[in-house]
Amino acid sequence: MNDTFDVLIIGGGLVGASLAIALDGAGLAVGLAEAAPLHVDLQPSYDERNLVLARASVNSLEALGVLDAAAPAVPLRRIHVSRRGDFGSVRLDAAELGLPPFGAVIPARELGNALLRRLERCNALERIAPARATAIHADGGHVEVALLAGETTCRLRTRLLVGADGTRSFVRDAFAIGSATRDYGQSAIVTTLTTERPLDGLAYERFTDAGPVALLPLGDRRAGLVLTVPGDEAAAVAALDDEAFVAFVHQRFGWRAGRLSRTGRRKPYPLARCLAARTTAERMVLVGNAAQTIHPVGAQGFNLGLRDALTLAELLREAADAGTDPGAASLLARHVARRAPDRAATAAFSDDLVRLMGNDFLPLRLARSLGLQALQHLTPLQRRFALRGMGYRGDAAAAGLAR
Ligand SMILES: Cc1cc2nc3c(=O)[nH]c(=O)nc-3n(C[C@H](O)[C@H](O)[C@H](O)COP(=O)(O)OP(=O)(O)OC[C@H]3O[C@@H](n4cnc5c(N)ncnc54)[C@H](O)[C@@H]3O)c2cc1C
Repeated sequence: MNDTFDVLIIGGGLVGASLAIALDGAGLAVGLAEAAPLHVDLQPSYDERNLVLARASVNSLEALGVLDAAAPAVPLRRIHVSRRGDFGSVRLDAAELGLPPFGAVIPARELGNALLRRLERCNALERIAPARATAIHADGGHVEVALLAGETTCRLRTRLLVGADGTRSFVRDAFAIGSATRDYGQSAIVTTLTTERPLDGLAYERFTDAGPVALLPLGDRRAGLVLTVPGDEAAAVAALDDEAFVAFVHQRFGWRAGRLSRTGRRKPYPLARCLAARTTAERMVLVGNAAQTIHPVGAQGFNLGLRDALTLAELLREAADAGTDPGAASLLARHVARRAPDRAATAAFSDDLVRLMGNDFLPLRLARSLGLQALQHLTPLQRRFALRGMGYRGDAAAAGLAR
């Protein structure tokens, strides 16, 4: 095994794996260390979540050779947004707006499978798993990392260390970078259901006082459900028998998709926002959830993390071509400058959505209803709203890969 790298990525979740793939063929010695064994069933990042991929992410993952015919991604062609108790609702139809599908829905497990298949084909990538980073020391010219693999500890050196190790990032802590955390007091229960009517590319987002509910098309009559409930009710709701759970979902979501049935395994995720105070330090950069974990309501977390990864990959490819240092402070400063606006805007967007849509204050309800009505009737506004949701924004490298 190599013990010296140009770029060593800690964390082979959705974002770390995407970064390793984006660096394939860049002419850099890249290592990818992951605490879990390299198997989709054992990878916490590749679980039951159903992910909405923005159009720009779909384009990028296709260009990287991750999403192909073998990956079951369902095109998202229509979106229906409403709020219980408000009178407006918005229906966005990509074809009516003259746009391609807004994005696609894919179970995280299937995206994980597609990433693992693509990682197999990476040329100069060293995959180190299961191996957990346990100590980190930056010494000016390099960063030294201790990895615990079974009973053995190995020591690796890298010119750039990437922390892609999720919300409770060890890398972030090792560089003494603080984070601002906000507990939403909510949990998202994730499962699948069968709908009476096929969703046919239609996703629903319904806001209620108790939190948002999303129903996502998975093909045929299967749908992914993301049901947000108060944190202290999550265990009880997840444990309801199938009949009672379906009744609970109908009460929150209504009957738009007809009768719901056949619920799958349910998994609650406690929801908290966690923003790193900085995303870089000496020869180190944080990406994905390690840099920012946001509420899933706007379906932005992985899309945002992928844009981190693609921007970093673009800068590292430039450095490789120019023969310059991949861990240079100037490269990291450019990364921060390019990512900061998208990071701030996307985190604020998700947070605002939670607060705006969760509030029962009457004037706010009226304003919200009028806003939803306005959006429903103004096509140019719909297009702008849709393009933003499709991930075309700012200076993100993803936009460069967009078609
Ligand atoms: C209910 C729910 C629904 C969501 N829906 C969407 C959606 O529709 N669209 C969207 O874009 N996003 C969505 N998200 C957000 C998305 O899932 C995350 O943003 C994304 O998974 C983050 O990926 P990551 O690779 O940064 O982190 P993680 O998935 O947490 O991966 C981190 C990896 O690092 C490894 N690791 C940790 N510590 C170490 C260590 N010390 N050494 C080595 N390896 C280590 C872990 O084993 C793990 O594999 C949703 C989130 C939730 C909770």
